[in-house]
Amino acid sequence: MTNTTGRMDALKTLYKQVILEHSRHPRNYGDLTGATHTEGGHNPSCGDQLQLQLKLEGDHLQAVQFTAKGCAISTASASLMTQAVKGRTPAEALDLAERFRQMLRTGEAHADLGDLAALQGVSALATRTKCASLPWQTLEVMLKGEGRATTED
Ligand code: ZN
Repeated sequence: MTNTTGRMDALKTLYKQVILEHSRHPRNYGDLTGATHTEGGHNPSCGDQLQLQLKLEGDHLQAVQFTAKGCAISTASASLMTQAVKGRTPAEALDLAERFRQMLRTGEAHADLGDLAALQGVSALATRTKCASLPWQTLEVMLKGEGRATTED
């Protein structure tokens, strides 16, 4: 085993732990009182259901919370997303959504994705990319006001 392979394995293990940890103990979970936006999302291919709520104050996402019934990937992705977009402007959140989508498409993570890079490995699993992108699609629908989020087939 070369050093590079060792590092890659260590990274994969770390990413798996991040996903597990966030799916078991999701951050920003629960109903948000005083929410200014509420949107539901559904991923029929896996059965993931998600409700996303946020409080927009001035030009910042002051609070972002979710509740979900779904698989570990969709829950972990939602948890990581709420952490990543909290405190940002809607435009910044949409930028991040685009970079996240790019990572799922290419398998390569932009440096400023931070912990979101934990979901990088999902890009190799076509059916799971929908689980990972559900929270982000829901957020995009919410911020762009385009109606109910459903993952595309
Ligand atoms: Zn799923």
